[in-house]
Amino acid sequence: MSKTIAVIPGDGIGPEIMAATLHVLDALDCGLTYDTVEAGMIALEKQGDLLPKPTLDAIAKHKVALKGPLTTPVGGGFTSINVTLRRHFDLYANVRPAISFPGTKARYDNIDIITVRENTEGAYLSEGQTLSEDGELATSMIRVTRKGCARIVRYAFEMAVKKGRKKVTAVHKANIIKTASGLFLNVAREIAKDFPQIEFNEMIVDNACMQLVMRPEQFDVIVTTNLFGDILSDLCAGLVGGLGLAPGDNIGEHAAIFEAVHGSAPDIAGKGIANPCALLLAAADMIDHLGMVEKGTKLREAIRDTMANDREHVTPDIGGKGSTQSFGEAIAKRV
Ligand code: NAD
Repeated sequence: MSKTIAVIPGDGIGPEIMAATLHVLDALDCGLTYDTVEAGMIALEKQGDLLPKPTLDAIAKHKVALKGPLTTPVGGGFTSINVTLRRHFDLYANVRPAISFPGTKARYDNIDIITVRENTEGAYLSEGQTLSEDGELATSMIRVTRKGCARIVRYAFEMAVKKGRKKVTAVHKANIIKTASGLFLNVAREIAKDFPQIEFNEMIVDNACMQLVMRPEQFDVIVTTNLFGDILSDLCAGLVGGLGLAPGDNIGEHAAIFEAVHGSAPDIAGKGIANPCALLLAAADMIDHLGMVEKGTKLREAIRDTMANDREHVTPDIGGKGSTQSFGEAIAKRV
């Protein structure tokens, strides 16, 4: 199979971790070719635009993009490029796997939880936010739609079936936020009936936080609305040792963008010590998405094997003595 994807190296540590990731993907031999395009600070300098049209066109054309982190310039009225991309391509599902890896400092070593977060509505609307002139009263709005709830819950169940998962837990606050969270829960209950092979569970968000910390093994796939998903997915990342190994997949009907959850890490950019694993795990999810699940699994196993058995070559953030390049090369040898 031959498939072209859009590649956005990004800035800061982006180009370093992207080079290591593409080296591994080439070794994995999954028939990918790359249409490399610019976004972020590099694009602003060279093309006068943080998100130039040719970049948007390339993502629209190839439908799949692998993206390095992008620095959002402070001030100057710049909107986050990630938010713009999410809106432009209606990337409604934010899929955040949290998997335990050997050799990381984490509370648990048996975590394998995927959080599916609704990415376009809920509490994260720009409209409906007001602050009174005297600064004494602020209002925010939560808006969910039946269509928005249905497509995220259906996505979570279909993903669970595809990945051989056993259980979907809908996390909500319908006992208090009766309208918005109630609609989400009712829709989740209805859609769960279409998937009798998957166990369905529902949990109030505050209890879910406690259960995740105390008995995380009871969770498999979590589906939830925007704000709860934002918080819970970071909680899950914390269970496996932080954001360093966290991929984030942004999925829509017409495009999907795969990236690391971490940012451009300006403090270590150019030093060659950035950990490429979060982007590599995002690449593994991308390969699954392209229908090459065996290759995606092989890549995750190669990362696991390198972290367990090749401590010389892993990066300093996880206790190794290696570099971004040596880590990538060690993984590439194992795929
Ligand atoms: P950050 O994630 O870039 O860095 C936080 C800390 O984690 C730093 O100490 C950094 O060195 C470390 N770190 C991050 N990734 C690492 C890696 N792969 N290997 C080793 N250490 C790593 O967060 P920040 O400093 O708050 O943000 C920097 C910039 O990134 C900001 O402009 C922010 O807007 C942007 N950002 C972009 C994205 C994205 O493109 N998806 C996400 C988050 C932040």
